[in-house]
Parts: sequence; C-alpha cells; structure tokens
Amino acid sequence: MGAPPGSDAGEKLEEREIGPVTVLFGEEGGKYPDGNSLLVRGSRETVVIDPALGVVARQGRLPRVDRVLNSHCHEDHIAGNHLFPDVPWHVHEADAIGFRSIDDFMGIYGFPDDVAKTWRSTVLERFHYAPRPDVSPFRDADVFDLGDVAIRVVHTPGHTRGHSLLLVEWGARGAGERLAYLGDIELSSFGPYYGDAWSDLEDFERSLAVVRKIEAAWYATFHHIGVLDPAAFAERLDRFETKILEREAALLDYLDEPRSLDQIVAHRFVYRPGPEAPYIDSVERRSMGMHLRRLLARDRVEEVEPGRYLAVEV
Ligand SMILES: [Zn+2]
Repeated sequence: MGAPPGSDAGEKLEEREIGPVTVLFGEEGGKYPDGNSLLVRGSRETVVIDPALGVVARQGRLPRVDRVLNSHCHEDHIAGNHLFPDVPWHVHEADAIGFRSIDDFMGIYGFPDDVAKTWRSTVLERFHYAPRPDVSPFRDADVFDLGDVAIRVVHTPGHTRGHSLLLVEWGARGAGERLAYLGDIELSSFGPYYGDAWSDLEDFERSLAVVRKIEAAWYATFHHIGVLDPAAFAERLDRFETKILEREAALLDYLDEPRSLDQIVAHRFVYRPGPEAPYIDSVERRSMGMHLRRLLARDRVEEVEPGRYLAVEV
C-alpha cells in the first residue's frame, strides 16, 4: 500500500546537498526496487531526474517541479513520474516510445508471454506506470538550461537503447562544479545489465569507454552505490567493466564440452544459482546469447553439431 501524501514514510529517507543538486536517496540507499533521484534547482527552473519510489514516499513534501528528466525508460526510474502530470517529461528519443503505452513499454523488456503477464501488473501496480504519449525526446549533447545550472545529455546506450547520462554543471562549469548522474551504469558488484530486448552488450562496452572519460567531482548512481568521489568512481568502474570479461571467460570455461544454450541458461552466469525470479531465464538467455554469438564470430567457440557449442582450443 502506498503512503498517503505527507505521511512519515518519506521522512526517514536520507538526502544530500551538492551544489544545486539534492540527492533524494531511496529505501536502503536506493537498492532495487527503489533508487536515488536528483532534484536540481536553477534560478529559473527546478527539475527532478528519475523520480523513483523514494520520491513517491516523499509525496507532498517536494518543491514545485518544472520538468521530469528520465535517464531511460525502466520501471524503477519512472515510478514517480505520475506525480508530475502537468509538466513536460523528457527521455532520449530512442526510449520515448516506452511512454506511448504499456504495450510499447513492455516491448523494451521483450520477456516471453508468461513472464510478461506478471511483469505488466507489477509495472502498473507497484511502479505506477503512466503513459505519456507527448513525452519530449532529447538527443545526445542536448542541454537543459535551468538558469545558472545546466544539465547536459550524454547518450550511453547498451542498458537500453536510449540510456543517457545527465551531467549537472554550475558555477564556472569546470569538473569541480560538475556532477555526473550515471543512471543504471550503476557500478554495483552485480555488473552491467544487458538482458532486455533493448539491451546491447557491445553498445554497453562503448558507453563504458565514454563514461571513463567524463570528469566530475561527484558521480551519482541510481542504485545503492550512491554518490562517489573520482577515485572511488575509477575503482568501481574498473570492477564493473571486468564483470563483462568474467562472464565471457566463465562461459568459455563451461564450453569445455559441447553444451546447448538451454544448458548455458540453466547454469547461470549473470545471476547466481539459487534465487528464483520469473525473468531470470530470459535475462540469462539474452545476455549469454550475446556473449556466445560474439565468441562464435571471433572463432573462440564453434557449433560442433546443431545447437551445441564447444570452446576452440587455443
Ligand atoms: Zn534500467
């Protein structure tokens, strides 16, 4: 049950001020299904970025907001969008279709029918999905001028097609007055998520190279890693990126005898064996399918009989 406006639910949630930015931490520091949202105040406009369930819990205690910006179109990032029906919503043009209807939104995940049925009700009931066909798309390098504060878009696809970083800049706008909001390039020990229909492993890798070059004094992630300084960011980014190589190396090891994609899915490379969630098989199939195709293309793996794959001895 959702908390009524102005209740205690949002009061215990932490906040942190950094220049014109207020980080609105979610439950458990923004652990899924919650997340960390940003409130950015310029002299002319105030913007909320990725209003999460923690923003829903703060309902009634938020300042007036002039726009909603979304780093991408996923359930946890848009859970509070419905609180701002009268202001423009912005998302990258490649993800904008997700706001057209619940069917279009479901297409971003591409789950099989049995999983999609449950997921659709979760998205509607728990994450308050609201369609907004007139969403205003942004593109790479677009700038929102809030008055003395700017938010710059850096398109970083891979997690979804439209996933974007949002760089908040103020004052002299050097790195010392810049906060990079990384969205779901979230630097957790889980590693990069590229398990949806709209995900792409190689786009994700290119985006990580872009992220690596971004200079800022603060790096804010949507989930529980929270806000990092440059040294912690660099260290976390290395570890995060290494997860991709580890998954690929583990797959190569596993293919020391011929295996099918079904066996790869059951073995689990993205999720640990054990926990059950209806979408896990779909995510494993899509993610490890991308690794498998890449290894086949690079002659590291061969299809020794139809649908059975074996690592090539090197
Ligand atoms: Zn996401």
